[in-house]
Amino acid sequence: VSQRIFIVGLFHETHTFVDGKTSLADFKIRRGEEMLACAGDASPLGGVLEYVKEQEWEVSLGIDYRATPSGTVDDEVVEAWWSEFKSAWQPDCDAIYLVLHGAMVAETIRDVDGELLARIRKLIGGDVPIFGVYDLHANFSFAMAANSDCLVAYRENPHSDAREAAVRAAELLTRCLSKSTRPKMFLRQTRIILPPTGIGTASDPMRSLEATARRLEGGEMWTVNIAGGFAFADTLDTGLSFQVVSSGSVESAEEVFDELEQLAEDLKEYGRGQDEALEDVMLQLREPADGLTLLVEPADNIGGGAPGDCTGCLRAIIEHQIKNAA
Ligand SMILES: [Zn+2]
Repeated sequence: VSQRIFIVGLFHETHTFVDGKTSLADFKIRRGEEMLACAGDASPLGGVLEYVKEQEWEVSLGIDYRATPSGTVDDEVVEAWWSEFKSAWQPDCDAIYLVLHGAMVAETIRDVDGELLARIRKLIGGDVPIFGVYDLHANFSFAMAANSDCLVAYRENPHSDAREAAVRAAELLTRCLSKSTRPKMFLRQTRIILPPTGIGTASDPMRSLEATARRLEGGEMWTVNIAGGFAFADTLDTGLSFQVVSSGSVESAEEVFDELEQLAEDLKEYGRGQDEALEDVMLQLREPADGLTLLVEPADNIGGGAPGDCTGCLRAIIEHQIKNAA
């Protein structure tokens, strides 16, 4: 049976502690056919577009808004996206597939992803499955869980598997449509907020959490997601959380959550991400090294929405008269 899938995207990681706002003009907006430009690239949108093509599903392309990580988003952006969604929505679609980030914050709408999922659910009714993919840095909210059927997180940080995660979510949509089984999304938020340097998946706690999630998946447990969270966002949902997509009972999801939460509590100190003091680092830099030495100040990471204009490291380099520095 041919299926008709409505595909939309909204992608922003919002750093609420920096000055400056993110406006509509900062977003790259693709409408309808323009979204096809992403097919074949490594992005999650590219992944799902290729998957639906292979499945010979009919695709209805909505809108895709994305911006690089930056400060709090103007409410206007949320309303513009929603207004375009409503005009683009095709009520004869069998499912919606969303490419999300999961940590977007607007001036008055602090949980943008959850708010828009709630509006979508209200608009389309309960019969149409809502599937999608989101970033491991999501600050996952209860509104997101309550208003979707199956959202799948990346499993790797740095994100080398965004496209793969999108395809995995699309495969689960196939399972849902072909077997007419609707899973549910369950959420457990922890009391742990880890710094961005503490949620790499090559180290604990994320390494063990992801490994445990893989072990607990299967059967009625469609997928188990670990969202590391994005600490540079002042919201009620900020922090480490777990999501289970399951066609089983609440109790079985709770068991998974209990195991993951205990493990997170046991390992959280490894995620504290304590960096060496700048003064100590400078002493090491005085010794000439072979090749290139990179000095990175992770709190001012432009990939995480910071402006990249801190001069602390530069000042130290000058004070310590480190030669050959650029
Ligand atoms: Zn991310």
